[in-house]
This record gives sequence, C-alpha cells and structure tokens, in this order.
Amino acid sequence: MGCLFCEIVEKKRPASILYEDDFALAFEDINPHAPVHVLVVPKKHISTNIEITTDDNWLIGHLFQIANTIAGKKGVAERGFRLVMNCNPESGQTVFHIHLHVLGGRVMHWPPG
Ligand code: AMP
Ligand code: ZN
Repeated sequence: MGCLFCEIVEKKRPASILYEDDFALAFEDINPHAPVHVLVVPKKHISTNIEITTDDNWLIGHLFQIANTIAGKKGVAERGFRLVMNCNPESGQTVFHIHLHVLGGRVMHWPPG
C-alpha cells in the first residue's frame, strides 16, 4: 500500500505547502483542529516515532526548527503553540509516516484528550 505523505513529498498528491527543503516539508492539515494546524514531515519515510534511529537525530531536530519557522510565519510563536507527534493507534496516529503537528491560534487544553 502506498504512503499518503510519501505521495505528497513526491508531488503525486496535492497539498498546501508552506515550506520545503531537501529534507522536509510543511503543509496545511486537510482537517484542521485549530486556526493554525500545519504538518511538518520528513521526506524520508519513517513509519512511527519508534522507528527513529540515531541516524535520524539531525533530521528530527530539523523538523522542530521548521516548526519554529512555521509558528513564526503564522504569528503564534510568542502567543504559544503545541507540537504533537502521535505514535501508533492508541495515540490517534492515522498516517504512518511521521509528522509533527503544529497547532496554534487558540488556547490549548491540558491534559489532552
Ligand atoms: P495523525 O492522526 O497524527 O496520524 O495525523 C494525520 C493528519 O493528517 C490528520 O490531522 C489528517 O487531517 C491529516 N491528513 C490526512 N490526509 C491529508 C492530506 N491529504 N493533506 C493534508 N493533511 C492530511
Ligand atoms: Zn511515507
């Protein structure tokens, strides 16, 4: 079975892309749960957080840096924003290609549901 986010990375599926470089891209979530809801995705296919290895350390840090760039562009860096990476079914992960959710533009509740 194909991977949805690999298809977006390969431009075989449309997305509203906000940022792209050789290693990652960021695009609008198709079903936003907050006024700001952007996904930051590595171009390398990694299914879940559990599959991350030490070889990926730079890449994972890079995703967080991109999240900061997105938060700045969207005007929520100072107000506050939340980063989420779901891992496996009980967390709510539905797309098995890792992605950081950048959520903001409203007050976030804690603990999360
Ligand atoms: P998760 O449930 O953590 O795996 O997050 C998957 C996210 O991908 C959900 O928030 C979906 O709304 C989002 N999503 C699914 N398909 C697309 C798509 N084609 N373009 C943008 N976002 C998508
Ligand atoms: Zn993939």
